[in-house]
Amino acid sequence: MTALAKIVHTTPEVEAEPDLTDGFHLVIDALKLNGIETIYGVPGIPITDLGRMAQAEGMRVISFRHEQHAGNAAAIAGFLTQKPGICLTVSAPGFLNGLTALANATTNCFPMILISGSSEREIVDLQQGDYEEMDQLAIAKPLCKAAFRVLHAADIGIGVARAIRAACSGRPGGVYLDLPAKLFAQVMDAEAGRQSLVKVIDPAPAQRPAPEAIARALDVLKSAKRPLIVLGKGAAYAQADEAIRALVETSGIPYVPMSMAKGLLPDTHPLSAGAARSTALKDSDVVLLIGARLNWLLSHGKGKSWGEPGSTKFIQIDIEPREMDSNVEIVAPVVGDIASCVQALLDGMGKGWQQPPSDWIETLKTKREANIAKMAPKLMSNASPMTFHAALGALRTIVKERPDAILVNEGANTLDLARGIIDMYQPRKRLDVGTWGIMGIGMGFAVAAAVETGKPVLCVEGDSAFGFSGMEVETICRYGLPVCIVVFNNNGIYRGTDTDPTGRDPATTVFVPDSRYDRMMEAFGGVGYHVTTPDELTRAVNEAMNSGRPALVNAVIDPAAGSESGNIGSLNPQSGIKKKK
Ligand code: ADP
Ligand code: MG
Repeated sequence: MTALAKIVHTTPEVEAEPDLTDGFHLVIDALKLNGIETIYGVPGIPITDLGRMAQAEGMRVISFRHEQHAGNAAAIAGFLTQKPGICLTVSAPGFLNGLTALANATTNCFPMILISGSSEREIVDLQQGDYEEMDQLAIAKPLCKAAFRVLHAADIGIGVARAIRAACSGRPGGVYLDLPAKLFAQVMDAEAGRQSLVKVIDPAPAQRPAPEAIARALDVLKSAKRPLIVLGKGAAYAQADEAIRALVETSGIPYVPMSMAKGLLPDTHPLSAGAARSTALKDSDVVLLIGARLNWLLSHGKGKSWGEPGSTKFIQIDIEPREMDSNVEIVAPVVGDIASCVQALLDGMGKGWQQPPSDWIETLKTKREANIAKMAPKLMSNASPMTFHAALGALRTIVKERPDAILVNEGANTLDLARGIIDMYQPRKRLDVGTWGIMGIGMGFAVAAAVETGKPVLCVEGDSAFGFSGMEVETICRYGLPVCIVVFNNNGIYRGTDTDPTGRDPATTVFVPDSRYDRMMEAFGGVGYHVTTPDELTRAVNEAMNSGRPALVNAVIDPAAGSESGNIGSLNPQSGIKKKK
């Protein structure tokens, strides 16, 4: 059914003028024209009908219980597909709820568009107190790549086009599109409306690197005795999987994947130095960064994770020129898109390329094998309640047997240990807390991963992390998505054993002990499991993933097993005041 026919059928007054369209339909037509087929959102004034009409026009409209999770879904849809994910919200409070996800998408370089309805401009600008009054455009601006407002139906096409181009081109990120309530009802001639739409041609144009930048990078790489490649989530996003594999294998340079780049090459690849990460960073003399920033996750390229100051030279491939020298000197900046840059390096290596000295490869291999051997017994423990290691050992095998499943992961210990223990085998299968280490991405990411890829999703969640988006299990059940959630239930944040020194209240970090998160899933018709051993965990997850039905496994973990803040406890400030003995 066309937009035009829709109006004819639903509003008898315009039957006499069948050549009209309106703001609602122009927004839908503009998105569809640009190949956007899915909207994640929460309905309400003034966008309820927009969602209804989009569904009627054949778009997939996934309604959530809270905008933050719809926003996270849109963001990760953007990461997985390279098309901006769309999040649709109501005005002021709904918009603000979506904003966390928009800011997070921008920080992580995921393309997404937050579309929010807003109140009447005339009243908002005079601050006369409209329903959900807020100057949303001004508030969104500092938190995203670009923000636009459309006031006239005839500008919807160009507004949507600008939003798409801003989200996808160059360094991807979040874009805000403000659509005031009045816009949706504006009527215009249908043919003029069609003409006003814009199909964005080549939304993320290739950006080829300068030949001299490639030559400089190759010179530095050639001089290396202990070279290392660091693959970041930009490399995963770029979908240049074959070229990246060829670069690693042709160069013979070991690589370390950042968390969401795991699986770009299988973690079991002979050149993977993931399990020897500390040695690889500390002892390397030349590091080639591919779509990875030298931010806190890489200790800013200096300090104790790295060798002596000045002992490591960095080559960096990034589409964002200003990323260079953000923390330390980049001796060979390669600005361009990853696919083009990696191909240019490969071409430049040619036939006479010398692989790195074998003692470096051996050092890393020995370290990697030692670390894996040290970990192995911990993964086999049958103690009850389970340790994090034992539970993750079970899930590690499941992921190995189901390499095309998508792993969503958040928590503190649950995150840090899972990242190290669970090997990934395929690109873009590991979705996690990203650059901010944000909690609350779990259910939003799980929903979009299932919707966008049609693959089974395994969601490994700390009990605290799960709480941020747990209500979305209803969404997962409503859409019948193949999502298996495993809640690592240790009764609290980091640990479940803390107490209030005054004895009055529960400690700030603990939850109701022995909670049954599995029953939340049962409340909505999904399947719940309660497990206390690695064998029970394995059986439950396999059964759930074979069924393809929504499931939640409450996995009882030793409340004393976790460490403060997982691997990043050192980021906690320490009180300067010494306690009296
Ligand atoms: P990680 O946390 O995995 O290290 P980051 O998010 O820090 O990854 O870095 C990703 C980088 O990738 C960003 O600097 C971003 O500009 C860059 N990037 C994203 N997409 C592309 C692309 N297609 N080509 C080149 N660089 C890209
Ligand atoms: Mg916990």
